[in-house]
Amino acid sequence: MDHVCDWCGSRAKKGENIVYWELPDGTRAIEITETPAVICSDCDMIYQTEEITKEIEDQLFLIDTKKIGKTISYQELMALPRLLKRNYFDFS
Ligand SMILES: [Zn+2]
Repeated sequence: MDHVCDWCGSRAKKGENIVYWELPDGTRAIEITETPAVICSDCDMIYQTEEITKEIEDQLFLIDTKKIGKTISYQELMALPRLLKRNYFDFS
């Protein structure tokens, strides 16, 4: 499905690229490969849609980011189990 480029209004294509994302705790940035992207050949913009941006941010917020190395693919990132609830009563 075609996209309209947010920057120049030309017809843009869906593709993927590598993005660098800061973790929610701000300790470091990770590289996410094969991230769905919108690619515009007219103005050379490559960017993530708001939906993808939100998905990545939600996921990073809900998973144990210590388990992520320097690089992860988008698929791998989205496949990581979410920590739905913290156990506040675990004093061990
Ligand atoms: Zn464009």
